[in-house]
Amino acid sequence: MMPTIEIVGAGPAGLAAALTIARRGGRAIVFERATEIGHRFQGDFEGIENWTTEGDVLEELASLGIAATFEHTPFRECVFYDPQGREHVCRSAQPLFYLVRRGPGPGTLDQGLKEQALNAGVEFRFATAQKHLPQGGIVAHGPQRADAIAAGYIFETDSAICAFSVTSDHLAPKGYSYLLVCRGKGTIASCLFNDFHNERTYVERTVEFFREKTGVVMKNPRRFGGFANLFAPYSARKGNILYAGEAAGFQDALFGFGMRYALLSGHFAARALLEGSPETYDSLWRKRFGSLMKLAVVNRAIYERLGDSGYARLVCLIGRAPDARDWMRRYFGQGWLKKLFYPLARRQFSGRTNLLFACVEGCDCTLCRCKLAADCHLQE
Ligand SMILES: Cc1cc2nc3c(=O)[nH]c(=O)nc-3n(C[C@H](O)[C@H](O)[C@H](O)COP(=O)(O)OP(=O)(O)OC[C@H]3O[C@@H](n4cnc5c(N)ncnc54)[C@H](O)[C@@H]3O)c2cc1C
Repeated sequence: MMPTIEIVGAGPAGLAAALTIARRGGRAIVFERATEIGHRFQGDFEGIENWTTEGDVLEELASLGIAATFEHTPFRECVFYDPQGREHVCRSAQPLFYLVRRGPGPGTLDQGLKEQALNAGVEFRFATAQKHLPQGGIVAHGPQRADAIAAGYIFETDSAICAFSVTSDHLAPKGYSYLLVCRGKGTIASCLFNDFHNERTYVERTVEFFREKTGVVMKNPRRFGGFANLFAPYSARKGNILYAGEAAGFQDALFGFGMRYALLSGHFAARALLEGSPETYDSLWRKRFGSLMKLAVVNRAIYERLGDSGYARLVCLIGRAPDARDWMRRYFGQGWLKKLFYPLARRQFSGRTNLLFACVEGCDCTLCRCKLAADCHLQE
């Protein structure tokens, strides 16, 4: 008889796990502390990266039984600005990334996955903050500390479809800012890896920058924001409990493209439990993306030392590459020398404090709003 497997969290990791279990004949029960799916997001655009593998990400997901039944738009072109505001157009033959929307609304990645899960027979328990899984199961409750935040605005606009990014410590310290527009909707954000308490300043500078460069007009702008944790775990298992997605620390430490890891790890965790061998989970995820995660940690350590002149050289190189996707896969994925530096780079992350608890009372920065939302749900 196929087992019943409980899953905590209905984000991409939890939903991918549930889908895998249900499609293979098991019973999947998903506990979600919010009353609906995708509550951590507000309709903002995110990109599913497509540059870390030669094959296409959507084909990889389809091969695992996760269909792209959500709105998704391939981007083969992206404009990068360097800190001096010079434009570098990056192109690739295959999509660099797929643009998706996040949140509870129709057409989002979260709703698309939920509908597939319901059709496959997954059971949901909403408004249930599960703290224990005595029989074992999958914990996919998202990030637990803040190493990076993304904050900005979602809005309506008449601008044409576009993807712009700028690397500058003046707009997003140690990170990057972006403007994404598709089908009359837009997202502008600063993705900060430092100085979180001044997010308002960085967001307003970012808005000003893109207004001046692209002429974008934001109609009905609404603030949004969220946080991510960026550690690379040694193991994502405690006995029969398997951690997936950001709950396990599966994130892209370089730029925060964590969705792909979330979906893959959810699938692997489900497979390991279905096969009655939870101990195989660590080897499954390590084989598929363990190396990539380590390289991303080293790349982040390097990136944080570049400063504005280094960012300028980097975007210039991407812009000059005949195919930006190939270039990024090779440059960010280069092997053994970077791996030697991994233990050193990793130490940087473990030494960071958890800023989620460092603000003053009444503060409404992204960290405090995320923490407040989490606390409210836990008290319900
Ligand atoms: C603003 C922002 C922009 C981003 N942009 C990108 C991008 O462009 N590309 C990319 O690849 N990634 C991006 N990311 C990262 C990406 O969104 C995450 O890596 C991904 O959502 C992680 O999925 P997850 O399933 O692990 O966790 P989550 O999506 O956080 O889902 C966890 C779920 O668990 C629930 N939960 C928590 N605790 C409990 C509990 N005790 N009981 C029950 N349920 C619980 C939560 O309510 C939540 O619904 C971005 C993140 C943010 C915040």
